[in-house]
Amino acid sequence: MQNPKNIWIKHPLATLKPDYAGGLVVAGSRIIELVAAGRTPSQPVNEIFDASEHVLLPGLINAHHHFYQTLTRAHPVALNKALFPWLTSLYPVWAKLRPEMVEVSTQIALAELLLSGCSTASDHHYLFPQGLEDAIDIQVAQAQQLGVRVHLTRGSMSLGEEQGGLPPQSTVQSEDIIIADSERLIRRYHDHQPGAMVRVALAPCSPFSVSTELMKMSAQLATQHNVQLHTHLAETHDETAFCQKMFGMRPVDYLESVGWLSNRVWLAHGIHFNEEEIGRLGQAGVGIAHCPSSNMLLASGQCPTLDLEAAGCPVGIGVDGSASNDGSNMITEVRQALLLQRLRYGASDITHQKVLDWATRGSAACLGRDDIGDIAVGMQADLALFRLDDIQFAGAGDPLAALILCGAKQADCMMVAGRWRVRNGAVCGLDIEALKARQRELAAQLI
Ligand SMILES: [Zn+2]
Repeated sequence: MQNPKNIWIKHPLATLKPDYAGGLVVAGSRIIELVAAGRTPSQPVNEIFDASEHVLLPGLINAHHHFYQTLTRAHPVALNKALFPWLTSLYPVWAKLRPEMVEVSTQIALAELLLSGCSTASDHHYLFPQGLEDAIDIQVAQAQQLGVRVHLTRGSMSLGEEQGGLPPQSTVQSEDIIIADSERLIRRYHDHQPGAMVRVALAPCSPFSVSTELMKMSAQLATQHNVQLHTHLAETHDETAFCQKMFGMRPVDYLESVGWLSNRVWLAHGIHFNEEEIGRLGQAGVGIAHCPSSNMLLASGQCPTLDLEAAGCPVGIGVDGSASNDGSNMITEVRQALLLQRLRYGASDITHQKVLDWATRGSAACLGRDDIGDIAVGMQADLALFRLDDIQFAGAGDPLAALILCGAKQADCMMVAGRWRVRNGAVCGLDIEALKARQRELAAQLI
């Protein structure tokens, strides 16, 4: 679909904030005007999108994911296990990944994310077995084709079983190869400019799968190129025990010892912190991607979101997965965050506005962005529009609350950087039935 000139997203049914109750005007890739309730745009428009039956949100931002895992959802070897046994069951399966599998699973994950209201997706890919050296290059091509904004992290594993790590030796790479490829990817794909559609970050997988040296080298390279850093941290008690045994310290102390306590860093999960550690993370401005479904499925625990936020940490939402979710649906993940966090903090502090704020502004802050995650003049035109005519909304009162409480699953329309990428509940230009059939075939080869 062509880039529209001036398009008025007119009179939305509901919005996250009142200042654009009359809608907004998009030109090129950006929002150029907010329209107050009952008003019309101050300048002529070429096209009008009647949003009177749509809830309008900033495009949701997924702060943590593993696209390739859509191939191993509900995999028989991984059922009913906690993180460490779950990982050791799946590593040998994932070691068989081939380029075509990365291509198709990336399309599946991105399409599923788009259809669930997500306009920016972060991915953490850390598997580069022989023949799959170009995994990130493949992901970039798929994201560009579907028009999803992406933050692709060059993941890594360097601490195999022989060095006391968790992953099998065949899935790890040497520090030198990892750093050289990280630098190649930053130079080739990372766009520093506002409005960037592709950014690259560096992401050693976890304390139990990479060497201390690699953590330090990654932090230095990230500073040198001004890119973000990402890893899994404080996900389970097993991990804390591993860090104490292997490094003689708790995960946050380890993070600090390798130069990672900075606002360049965002962490997946961030569950098992003590009060003093939360204070230090907040002081440094470390971001936290809360992944509620994964945390419940693997019985990992509950992220102390409000405490982290009060300390100064940006908090975002990630679907994680998709072998620990086992989906890539962003709007249902927002609902999961509301339900899980209410168990910890009560009903009045965890509102539907709060969890939507995490999934938009909070995730954007984790990714180091100030041009997405909100609806305001000058921001990128990343918009999610949801209809409320499915049966689960019948009789709903507050439309914005209904989106979360009644369990919306699919967006009707999605705009990314001013271009329509989903219309009438379908991804533009994608044969989704053919894609699903390819994914099923490839997944069967991994069972
Ligand atoms: Zn993860």
